[in-house]
Amino acid sequence: MKKVGVLGLQGAVSEHVDRLAKLENVKPLVVKYKNEIEAVDALIIPGGESTAIGKLLADFELTSTLKSRILSGMPVWGTCAGMIILAKKLCNDERRHLEVMDIEVMRNGYGRQIDSFSTTVNLPELSANEIPLVFIRAPYVVNAAPNVKVLLRVNDKIVACRQENMLATSFHPELTEDLSFHKYFVDLIKAS
Ligand code: GLN
Repeated sequence: MKKVGVLGLQGAVSEHVDRLAKLENVKPLVVKYKNEIEAVDALIIPGGESTAIGKLLADFELTSTLKSRILSGMPVWGTCAGMIILAKKLCNDERRHLEVMDIEVMRNGYGRQIDSFSTTVNLPELSANEIPLVFIRAPYVVNAAPNVKVLLRVNDKIVACRQENMLATSFHPELTEDLSFHKYFVDLIKAS
């Protein structure tokens, strides 16, 4: 049984827990304290508001614990605001959070709330079926280092990528019924 934490500071926490609960050999847990983060096998940083999540990470003094767990190989997946939290660089914001992933990210890359949208894609590597994608004031990756594998582009923008134990998606798989990205993350955990 793999213990998969969902960082429970702010954002779409329960939705990720619900999705993880549908998968075999996974025990989802909401985590927000250091000792809880130290006890999980992997972690999801959910979507929400990166400024709020980043501030709470600092207030709860979780930044260094999280950083060292990720840098020593704990699988982590950042969705939307979570992608911003993982990025080493933000091209339109002075703030930096965990700075672990070699990506440069544009916050609110598609504009304001009104520019939120959904679409579907074919991604045979993950699923034989079309995968629905929900973007909410989403970021995208403007630059990815050569060690970052691009998993998906939508309209030429990088919206899903992976660097070793780190996965980042611009969109919110936890807000759809489709489990492809959660399964992909669990496979990554099993392989690590
Ligand atoms: N725009 C938000 C931010 O910058 C992210 C939105 C989301 O997570 N749905 O934090």
